[in-house]
Amino acid sequence: MRNNLKGLRALVTSGPTHEALDAVRFLGNYSSGKQGHAIAAALASAGADVTLISGPVAIPAPEGVRVVSVVSAREMLAACKAALPVDIACCAAAVADFRPKRVATQKIKKNGEGLLLELVENPDILHTLSHARARPKLVIGFAAETHKVEKNAREKLKRKGCDWLVANDVSGGKAFHAEENQVIILREGVTIRWPRMSKIAIAEKLVQQIQEFL
Ligand code: C5P
Repeated sequence: MRNNLKGLRALVTSGPTHEALDAVRFLGNYSSGKQGHAIAAALASAGADVTLISGPVAIPAPEGVRVVSVVSAREMLAACKAALPVDIACCAAAVADFRPKRVATQKIKKNGEGLLLELVENPDILHTLSHARARPKLVIGFAAETHKVEKNAREKLKRKGCDWLVANDVSGGKAFHAEENQVIILREGVTIRWPRMSKIAIAEKLVQQIQEFL
């Protein structure tokens, strides 16, 4: 890959977040971090100075990137703010939308009556970065959709205020943990469909587009 991003700073979020419920449990999701880590690696190969802010994942960190390991959405947001200013922000993490309102300090015991959980909304990192005073020149979001992929993703592009949105169909477990993915790239007024390819190939193609844009 050409070294066109030399001198530019990039932030990538990757993986899931875990939201504590009690001393031994959390709410999480199936994100592996494969796509976000591949993007961080591709940005670094293109010469960018990369900070990878990763939730708990089982895959190794790519070489040549600065890794900040976080657990919850609020920690991820704090790490993103601390990484600013950057030229490129790529939010590939599957951030939990909700967290338990209360975290029990001890393990919650069953009592034969079930358990009603109260959840509160987490901050939206992509939205926050898209509206930051030190807004990155290029903010890229991801959208995992299970139906009406393009319509929902186009609405999300507007709502989040990011520049590009990489949307994929995750119905039937099609993307999580898979090596391959099929994505649609949305920009204002433009929709580009990419064929099914490896997450590494998607990352490299995305970084090529980033180089052309910048
Ligand atoms: O709204 P939804 O979760 O589908 O949006 C997905 C996009 O928003 C992804 O880029 C994800 O990284 C980002 N996101 C975020 N903070 C949240 C929720 C989602 O950065 N709390």
